[in-house]
Amino acid sequence: MHRFKYKGNSLYCENVKVEEIAKEVGTPVYIYSKNTLLDHYRKIEDALREVSPLICFSVKSNSNLAVLKTLVSAGAGLDVVSGGELYRGKLSGVRPEKIVYAGVGKKRDEILDAIRYGILFFNVESEEELALINRCALELRKKVNVAIRVNPDVGAHTHKYITTGKGHTKFGVDFNTVKRIFRSKWRYRNVNLRGIHIHIGSQIVNPNPFQNAIKKVLKFLKENKIFVEYLNIGGGLGIVYSFEKPQTAKHFAKRILPLIKKSGLKLILEPGRFICGNSGIMVTKVLFRKKTGQKRFAIVDGGMNDLIRPSLYEAHHTIVPVTLPKKGAKKGKFDIVGPICETGDFLAKDRRMKLLDRGDLLAVMAAGAYGYTMSSNYNSRPRAAEVMVSGSKFSVVKKRENYRDLVRGESSG
Ligand SMILES: *Cc1c(COP(=O)(O)O)cnc(C)c1O
Repeated sequence: MHRFKYKGNSLYCENVKVEEIAKEVGTPVYIYSKNTLLDHYRKIEDALREVSPLICFSVKSNSNLAVLKTLVSAGAGLDVVSGGELYRGKLSGVRPEKIVYAGVGKKRDEILDAIRYGILFFNVESEEELALINRCALELRKKVNVAIRVNPDVGAHTHKYITTGKGHTKFGVDFNTVKRIFRSKWRYRNVNLRGIHIHIGSQIVNPNPFQNAIKKVLKFLKENKIFVEYLNIGGGLGIVYSFEKPQTAKHFAKRILPLIKKSGLKLILEPGRFICGNSGIMVTKVLFRKKTGQKRFAIVDGGMNDLIRPSLYEAHHTIVPVTLPKKGAKKGKFDIVGPICETGDFLAKDRRMKLLDRGDLLAVMAAGAYGYTMSSNYNSRPRAAEVMVSGSKFSVVKKRENYRDLVRGESSG
């Protein structure tokens, strides 16, 4: 569910006309619904209430400060994967003991900074990283909490670029390594091994892979008499982009709660997409139309630098007109492509829709996760603006970049 709905012929975000935002702020523009963000956060919170988990929103899915502040005020913690995300976390006002820090390539300075800040724990992805965290903690005369990220080697049945829990991916360590780490605890005197972390992938629409991974981990802990306090099951809950039928938070909870309760472990989750995916759209304008051979193209002002998911993951986003066409309007098939000089620059292919006109506004749905955060300046295009709507008010929460922003820090050498 989300709060992007038609009233009459016009698409609204909550009580604000999308067209009005596009007129005032320009296109392409990302628009977030504050109340949809909160709805989705509360869905997970409610479904798992029995075990009062710590829900750490995955900052990489949408790192805008307004988004982070909204969720942090509602009680969320944060899952960060870099020093930059930790910096955003600090600005969001989140309490340090609600931050978990993952990522395969943490640098020494990032580790020192996070220890000084007092985060809840690091999700550790290799023995060398663990040794470095131990040395950093010693240097600061602290004892630091860590969770070991185990790669449970389960399939998640999702796109190969967002599968992270199979043995051939770079994430986490295998069960044998976990064993070795716990058996050689004495090597890491400045570290408390307090948890196990898994994150098996993203856009997972079925609860089975989660359940399998959790079962496998719990069995492993029991068999090897490894005692920890926390089980962090990562993120990955799938959402509706077009035709998917993902599990609901309730359905997910029903499957995993019995396992968690029985284990007695404190639960942590790191949902990203589930909370912010359907809370955002990207609005783009049709610049030109053209036909070549068998194809009809609509060239729009939002490209792969603004939203890379279709190009990178072959993701299918529903695209709708911001103003509904008149009944009986003629239809045709379009490839909706951006202005970037790459064949891979498209938002959608072979979409049947009303024949588009120049200046028409289109809304790319479910663009709230991995949209703006993955955008770039490729082709020297300033990044889009971001807008947050709450009720009948909207505000620009990230200004559109300008040409000066593009060359900031450059010199002629
Ligand atoms: C990306 C990521 C998440 C969030 O994944 P979603 O699919 O957006 O829920 C959570 N945890 C880790 C470690 C991640 O890398």
